[in-house]
Amino acid sequence: MTNWSVFKFGGNSLKDQESLERAIDLVSEFGNGRLLIVVSAMGKSTNALESYLEARINKDLILENRIWQELKDFHIEISKSLNLFDEMLRLGIEGELNRIRKQSIDSPYERLYDSIVSAGEILSSIILHAAIQTKFPNASWLDSRMVIKTNRSHKRADINLEYTERCIQDKLKNQKGVWISQGFIGASEQTKETTTLGREGSDYSAAIFAYSLKAKELTIWKDVPGLMSGDPKFFRNVQLLHEVPYDEAMEMAFFGASVIHPKTIQPLKRRDIVLNVGSFFDNKSKATKISNFNFLKPKIPCFLRKSNQTMIEVKSKDLSFLSDVQFSDIYNIFSNIGLTVNLAQHFATKGIFCISSEPRLIATAASKLNSYDIFLENDLVLYTIRNPDTESKNWLKRKGQPMMEQSSARMDQALLLE
Ligand code: ASP
Ligand code: MG
Repeated sequence: MTNWSVFKFGGNSLKDQESLERAIDLVSEFGNGRLLIVVSAMGKSTNALESYLEARINKDLILENRIWQELKDFHIEISKSLNLFDEMLRLGIEGELNRIRKQSIDSPYERLYDSIVSAGEILSSIILHAAIQTKFPNASWLDSRMVIKTNRSHKRADINLEYTERCIQDKLKNQKGVWISQGFIGASEQTKETTTLGREGSDYSAAIFAYSLKAKELTIWKDVPGLMSGDPKFFRNVQLLHEVPYDEAMEMAFFGASVIHPKTIQPLKRRDIVLNVGSFFDNKSKATKISNFNFLKPKIPCFLRKSNQTMIEVKSKDLSFLSDVQFSDIYNIFSNIGLTVNLAQHFATKGIFCISSEPRLIATAASKLNSYDIFLENDLVLYTIRNPDTESKNWLKRKGQPMMEQSSARMDQALLLE
């Protein structure tokens, strides 16, 4: 272990003057150790950039210009509110926004997406860098595309971990102080073009930095108290979880605990790096600790909700039996397209799969599965209860008649129409 720590600030922790000031305080409180800060795009900038891209593809000039101007005003306003807006920062912000404006839209959609949507993290990191420099004048900015090395699967790139680790080590091993870099983005090893790791991927980037630096801990600062036994927006009487085993956190993240990205845990577990999910506004105790614990503490049922699910029924046209060979083909089709199956049930002549809705990808899957009868049902919600008890089982039953359900000692699941 080295003495690096990694902080991650998400979009909600960087959305206005107040949250940025709080982020600067947290870094100041950290003091003089070696600290790498990984940032997401500010506020809802990633969504705005996605809308900007759609507007450009649809040649909706008015909408395109409006979103672009809003993005510019938003970033400049935030910089001004912190008295940071000098010539350097103006050049940085305008440079990045002009870059996306000049970007030709002739390249393939996914490549274009990465080139344009990555601007959110670049803007956020240059503004936070300027802000941190007010307290730490030597704080440095690192372009994560120099070190996060991926394949060419644009919009959902996979990281080459060994190469990335080497690049991060080469860049940072003899450095100290505070460094600011971007989550979510990297660059293709072969083409050097910008890639992105999938929506909400900056927790994962932070985990990769922590892994590569053999950091002692990673703290993800959130605008919620920590990892809860359910999202308070959807579930009542939820409690803060104090200690969570890595495996439990992985399951919870996969089935909808949006507080952490599912891919975050594995690299940390491999190097025994503690993950703190801390409350941005109350950091006294870094609220939830995810580590090598044996048990969840407190040991209570945890309620998870994954909305925007699609159920795909894949049925043989002539009522012939579906063997493992066919099922494996079906799974290969999903995975090659980039769709993850969240819940599945196999029958003699059909399979039913619950998949997070991605209309473009699901349409591609349906066309590749044209030797079967396909039936789709959209707008579903997948409820998962970890460590269920009688009360939680009754609660799930009262939610309605599920389209799919599964139950085991550790977990109950139901796919419901809402
Ligand atoms: N800004 C990206 C997104 O909103 C990545 C992230 O926030 O983790 O998806
Ligand atoms: Mg974000």
